[in-house]
Amino acid sequence: MAKKLSKKPAKKSARKTAAKIAAKPTARKAPPKEKPVPNRKPVAAKAADGASPLMTTAQIKEAFRRLAAANPEPTTELTYTNPFTLLVAVVLSAQATDAGVNKATPALFALADTPAKMAALGEDRIRDLIKTIGLFRTKAKNVALLAQKLVAEHGGEVPRTREALEALPGVGRKTANVVLNTAFGEHTIAVDTHIFRLGNRTGMAPGKNPLEVETKLEQVIPPEFKRHAHHWLILHGRYTCLARKPLCERCIIADLCQWPGKTVAA
Ligand code: SF4
Repeated sequence: MAKKLSKKPAKKSARKTAAKIAAKPTARKAPPKEKPVPNRKPVAAKAADGASPLMTTAQIKEAFRRLAAANPEPTTELTYTNPFTLLVAVVLSAQATDAGVNKATPALFALADTPAKMAALGEDRIRDLIKTIGLFRTKAKNVALLAQKLVAEHGGEVPRTREALEALPGVGRKTANVVLNTAFGEHTIAVDTHIFRLGNRTGMAPGKNPLEVETKLEQVIPPEFKRHAHHWLILHGRYTCLARKPLCERCIIADLCQWPGKTVAA
């Protein structure tokens, strides 16, 4: 019959072995010491988005004043030549990077920079031309269909209302807002992942979903900054207020940001 092993002695012997190993001098090199980062405090791991206190009206105004001074004429990083190519580029950018879209669109737009030409190009050729972009099959179908719809229902022009834009295949509220803002100069705010994070994190416009953040931003952004607010926030989120490791040390609104997890002292 097999002998039952007692747990207690095993633990003791394990401890002894561990103590011996710990006492034994090792030939291994000690890991290099991390250089201290000046003026940095640890990120509060539990400082969840949405938990920040609200920014004041004066703080929001000052934040946009600084963002505007740093980049007076911000714009999209997508390559486009007219409202139609902008619309297509934004549709293609869903769950893809602007850089990835910009690699594929020059060849596409060289062949089709109007709804009529795109409709004539057809879904199969569009798919071939955008196959480096994620979800290219669905996107090719949507681009072909939206081009046909623009020709059939809008005289080959991109409509200037949210309602008409959102009725196009592959176009949601965010895409419609980008087109209205960038192509037509409307004061719309397209809440993407960056703006959603920033609105919550900074305490500027906390919300549980993109529409809530968009509505709050519309309420709190001073009128003189509304035209470009969308791009200032996107660019700040994309290059400074990164999702995992925000670069608070070089953030120009760090003293205004209310996020408890920011990595610089207030
Ligand atoms: S201080 Fe940090 S968390 Fe706040 S906006 Fe700047 S980068 Fe983002």
